[in-house]
Amino acid sequence: MAELVVVGAGLIGTSCALALRASGVTGRIVGVGRSRPNLDAARTRGAIDCGYLFDEPWSSELAGARIVLVAVPMAQNRSVFAALAPALDPRSVVVDAGSTKQDVIVAARATLGVHLPRFVPSHPIAGSERSGAEAASAALYVGRQVIVTPLPETDPAALRLAREFWTACGARVASLDAARHDRIFAAVSHLPHLLAFLLVDEIASRPDSTEYLANAGGGFRDFTRIAASSPEMWRDIALANRDALESEIDVFRQALDALSLSIAHGDGVAIEALLERAANVRRSWGESGVGAIEGVPAI
Ligand code: NAD
Repeated sequence: MAELVVVGAGLIGTSCALALRASGVTGRIVGVGRSRPNLDAARTRGAIDCGYLFDEPWSSELAGARIVLVAVPMAQNRSVFAALAPALDPRSVVVDAGSTKQDVIVAARATLGVHLPRFVPSHPIAGSERSGAEAASAALYVGRQVIVTPLPETDPAALRLAREFWTACGARVASLDAARHDRIFAAVSHLPHLLAFLLVDEIASRPDSTEYLANAGGGFRDFTRIAASSPEMWRDIALANRDALESEIDVFRQALDALSLSIAHGDGVAIEALLERAANVRRSWGESGVGAIEGVPAI
């Protein structure tokens, strides 16, 4: 009987398994994934006891599982839930880790049937630009926030168990409405990631890009670190949160146009006022430590 079944034993899923192990959990942990080498890496690292490819028979592992964690790219959620539903143990709690919440809730409503009240939508605000079990860390969630977006029908006992699970991983748990979550993360995560990808791609597409990149410094490195993230994951996030993202792109386009106008008019006062406001907010937010990455100073 498994303590935890992780469907999608990548960075996020394997980090949960390692964190539970580090917290003293000795029960069986099962991984399900799409690539054998990745499952082998998760097993070699001691995160999982046993790994199955998604199209192998693994549903018997669901019997009695305490937590079933679904940590796959957003477009995979629906087919994973559909595969889980017929074999789920009624006592299990299903938790996801998706970066957008309304889309995963739609997928869960369409597929989980009677198990829906024991599904707790969750988003760990922790991660990195690296993917897969090799990049996982037992400390990924320590001191970080996990946002849960429970449904009106969520069973309070399931919510309690999901909270305990994330707390055992080292995280703090906060609750948010799913639509509000998606709007906020479109602005503070999804748009910044896509802008980083876009900037790198635009520069790389120039015929003399080698010279540009050879001369790029720390600012470019800092701004574009996240452009090395998984393209599949970010494609799925962009599509899953498209409405909120389109609104944020409009807002950003207006801000960019205003800055462009100030530059064209040589309006140093307006430019400096904007930079002053932003620098003050960024300094105090940086000092607060919110969003700091393990090992990287909060600057
Ligand atoms: P990852 O690429 O490291 O891991 C995803 C894993 O899912 C891979 O091992 C892949 O083989 C597996 N997978 C894909 N389709 C599958 C399927 N149909 N069945 C079983 N396994 C399948 O990605 P990750 O960073 O761990 O992200 C997982 C989820 O967590 C995504 O939904 C992402 O939006 C979310 N998330 C990521 C971060 C981050 O910074 N990486 C942060 C918060 C939330």
